[in-house]
Amino acid sequence: MRFYSTADRSRFVPLREAILGGMPDDGGLYMPETISEMPSSFIKSLGTLDKQTISVEVIRHLTGNDIPVSTLLDIVTDAINFPTPLADIEPKIKTLELFHGPTLAFKDVGARFMARLMGYLVKDSDRELTILVATSGDTGSAVANGFFEVPGIKVIVLYPAGKISLIQEKQIATSGKNITALKVAGSFDDCQRLVKTALIDRDIRQSGMITSANSINISRLIPQCVYYFHAIGQIDMYMSKNIAISVPSGNFGNLTAGLIAKRMGLQVEPFIASTNINNIVPNYLKTGRFEPKPSVRTISNAMDVGNPSNFARILDLYDSSWKRITKDIYGQYFSDDETRQAIASIAETNGYILDPHGAVAYLGLKKYLNTHPGTDIGIFLETAHPAKFNDIVEPVIGRPVEIPERLNKCLNRKILSLPISNQYSDFKEFLLEQIN
Ligand SMILES: *Cc1c(COP(=O)(O)O)cnc(C)c1O
Repeated sequence: MRFYSTADRSRFVPLREAILGGMPDDGGLYMPETISEMPSSFIKSLGTLDKQTISVEVIRHLTGNDIPVSTLLDIVTDAINFPTPLADIEPKIKTLELFHGPTLAFKDVGARFMARLMGYLVKDSDRELTILVATSGDTGSAVANGFFEVPGIKVIVLYPAGKISLIQEKQIATSGKNITALKVAGSFDDCQRLVKTALIDRDIRQSGMITSANSINISRLIPQCVYYFHAIGQIDMYMSKNIAISVPSGNFGNLTAGLIAKRMGLQVEPFIASTNINNIVPNYLKTGRFEPKPSVRTISNAMDVGNPSNFARILDLYDSSWKRITKDIYGQYFSDDETRQAIASIAETNGYILDPHGAVAYLGLKKYLNTHPGTDIGIFLETAHPAKFNDIVEPVIGRPVEIPERLNKCLNRKILSLPISNQYSDFKEFLLEQIN
């Protein structure tokens, strides 16, 4: 499979370059050359296939023959080594729990797959691959965990000192081995500037193989298509049902993966783009105008995005037609107060504890179902475990959230990060020592 840039559909690169390069240099994002429908025999048998088989078939459909089937099977088995179950919430409403991975958020799926695929792509290289990531929290923990002990790859994570939660810092900075955490005296923007400057610095590029692992890498989206197929397959008689899916969205990678799954033949009608008050996409769906704004802080902070990076991919999938986009996507946004109320009411009536991101998705689904009674089943994605946001959730529900064992383990580990200034010259000196 070749990949083109959304900024220039006539330029193609092979899989290896799309994954290891991450981003085309024309400002676009990579997309697979063809996204065709999968055989209806496959869609019809989803309910009887195991997750590994679904994973391999779906990913092969988007990557072609570049990865041998047996390798792909090893990669998905190792990467997605945790369940993604559907849980019942209310009659007609289910949640797809995507937080059973090691860092308790759905980003584990994309990050763990990307890590193993990159590991495969550099396997025969005599040089080590160095990956730089700037993080404001969640991405860094998924990436640090995903790449841990992947041979041939070294990761350097930069995070702003004092500006991430203790849980996040423990998840990012306690791995050791091939993961180095740098605690930058500065802001998230400083971290991002240091990474971007290094990636185009000729001295650095000449001294080693270097890339980034940010959320726009197509290898993070591709495995996310899988859980949509797997989830629908778990619903009785899904071929004859109207199913809507609500996705809590920030950079819109997760929703884009759903739209790709739909293009591959999965019947979902519609996808619901649920956001907090960073409502750029719901506004676009209403007005046809895409107007990025500076992001606003909310309690669902992994969705505080003012210029959603995957929007270019959504436009590309629909040839920029607002009419076609609004046929497939319904958008809604919610305030922090509404989000807190949803967490409180579901905890009280169902005993189920939502995290703030899942609560936004629940609200979007409810709003849709209220005006569309013909829908048989609504699924909302629960993208993080509530314990990850216990500072918000506990006061709302009035009782403690149980902390899963895998989080507790990392809370007891020692933070190993190295302090560094926000000056590029200091970062460059550090990198040159590391790469050589
Ligand atoms: C990153 C994240 C989101 C947003 O996902 P996108 O693919 O960026 O839209 C939602 N919830 C949680 C918990 C996240 O970490």
